[in-house]
Amino acid sequence: MCGVFGVTNTENASKIAYLGLFALQHRGQESAGISCTDENVIHTHRNAGLVSDVFKEEQLVKLEGNHALGHVRYSTAGGNIGANIQPLTARIGGIPVSLSHNGNIVNSDELRTHLENSGAILQATADTELILHIMARSNKATFLEKLMHSFEELCGAFSLLILTPTHLYAVVDACGYRPLSLGKLKSSNGLPSWVLSSETCAMDLVGATFIRDIAPGEILSIELATGERKSHYFNLTAFQSLKRQHAKCIFEHVYFARPDSLVWNILANDARFAMGEALAKNNPVDADMVIAVPDSGVPMAMGYAHASGIPYKIGLIRNHYVGRTFIEPTQNVRNFKVRLKLNPVRETVRGKKVVVIDDSIVRGTTSRKIIELLYEAGAKEVHMRIASPPVKYPCYYGIDTPKRKELLAQIMTPLEMNDHLKSETLAFLSEEQLIAVMQKFQQKPTLQKEEKENGGWCTACFTGNYQDEIAQTKGYAEKREVL
Ligand code: SF4
Repeated sequence: MCGVFGVTNTENASKIAYLGLFALQHRGQESAGISCTDENVIHTHRNAGLVSDVFKEEQLVKLEGNHALGHVRYSTAGGNIGANIQPLTARIGGIPVSLSHNGNIVNSDELRTHLENSGAILQATADTELILHIMARSNKATFLEKLMHSFEELCGAFSLLILTPTHLYAVVDACGYRPLSLGKLKSSNGLPSWVLSSETCAMDLVGATFIRDIAPGEILSIELATGERKSHYFNLTAFQSLKRQHAKCIFEHVYFARPDSLVWNILANDARFAMGEALAKNNPVDADMVIAVPDSGVPMAMGYAHASGIPYKIGLIRNHYVGRTFIEPTQNVRNFKVRLKLNPVRETVRGKKVVVIDDSIVRGTTSRKIIELLYEAGAKEVHMRIASPPVKYPCYYGIDTPKRKELLAQIMTPLEMNDHLKSETLAFLSEEQLIAVMQKFQQKPTLQKEEKENGGWCTACFTGNYQDEIAQTKGYAEKREVL
């Protein structure tokens, strides 16, 4: 999971990009970077750490130019090393280029082998560098043609921003796994000032208005000198092997996106509330209160309470200031690491039958500890309700899920999971129920046959039904590890 942000034609572009990245910080906390262009030069600053650690006034001032792009990173491929920090920069056909990527290239192993065998010297271990190499090797005449040609070689998820001294390009892969939205800022010189962002919450912070989403398979080019924008589409016949063309990551709505973001024109908060309502209708329970595992569980718990009539209470408090590393002061505090992040409100849950709402169960380690903490705090019964289906398969499209053999739902049935977690009862929203919730928000009727079945959502981590053969093969290889 990563976040990308871009802006054109504005004074202090680096500061606008800084604010945009700040709003997208939840999508990646490992590193941050910004590139700005000024005449024929691209200035870049990037480093490991949070946006507020990487950028101080002195770095932002040095990033001169009225056009910028930025990136926050959570490594899903290639590990957390300096050479992988984005935006990545290169010269392609003599043109300076800066690139920010959200997603994961599924055929990166094959592409890396091919590039290395043909003499490419790769510096990074992440897949994003491969995109630059493929673009550089294209024999097409114009930069745009090189882009279009390269994307036909890439399989997987890529929402990209590419900055050159003359253009900002926004690109979304043919399935449209990751969101990328276009917005507009007020400008002072009569030319349009465009904003591109992984999520609309960043547009709110910089004062931009949401216009539309970048479509699957679209390359939007913005000419920096005039603000003129044009849409181009890659040759979709190259993607005929895909099972369906649209596969928006449903997990963006379940967990990743900030609740105040419009993701594919649906407010994440509304989607989560509706998931909670559906969960209550399909999996009722007799209880005294509904509590949430914060943060994404909060609107889901409120939806559950609304549909069930059971009161919503704040029964778990999240500490938002836990860094990546901390020194454990004593070995004597049980469940220290979970307790550091989540603490039950003893006075609220004591003696009560509690329904706990969470977005998902992956390894199950945290859920088990939360249940233990709630019983320690005096809860009489703890019922778990999960607002998505059991996660049984890894994601190969830009989300850092564990290997298949580490997923609790892969090795246990829901009944066995309930015993393992030591909850009173456990229930999930089914795939059909989750799709039905999301379908209610979709404005346009979907046209393709497969999309009628699932609304154009990717649900592969629940079903193992990946969109391409490469991911499917990787999934089978991991299945052998489980067996
Ligand atoms: S496999 Fe799951 S997490 Fe990955 S893109 Fe599909 S829905 Fe999203």
